[in-house]
Amino acid sequence: MRYEFAEDLQKIAREISEILFPHVNMDRVKCFRSFGTSSKRTIARCHALGKLMQMALEVKAFYPLEFLSERFDKLSFEEQTKVIIHELMHIPKTFGGGFRHHDFVTDKNVNLLYKQFVNLRREGQRFDI
Ligand SMILES: [Zn+2]
Repeated sequence: MRYEFAEDLQKIAREISEILFPHVNMDRVKCFRSFGTSSKRTIARCHALGKLMQMALEVKAFYPLEFLSERFDKLSFEEQTKVIIHELMHIPKTFGGGFRHHDFVTDKNVNLLYKQFVNLRREGQRFDI
């Protein structure tokens, strides 16, 4: 597995967070593309620095988001945006190192937030990509 910092996705994730997820500290979220996956179904993953690792390292929570290039980069821009929203939704309001799960992170909620994002963006937010 090879990982590359994804500046383009980082920028989109930052814009999404500013509009939809103000509790997400994008200085402590980093987007990466991964290459060489054998996974057939996974498109992206939300990782976290858990509480014990935070204590051991004496640092605060950190959430790396992984986008599996072979699958993610084939999607349309709309689908990619939804995947980014999905991954950001896994980050809880506390930003403490845990996750919100798939009872909350559902396709229905992702689609709702996507629509909200598109509408709010039209009302004056810039979005260059
Ligand atoms: Zn998920």
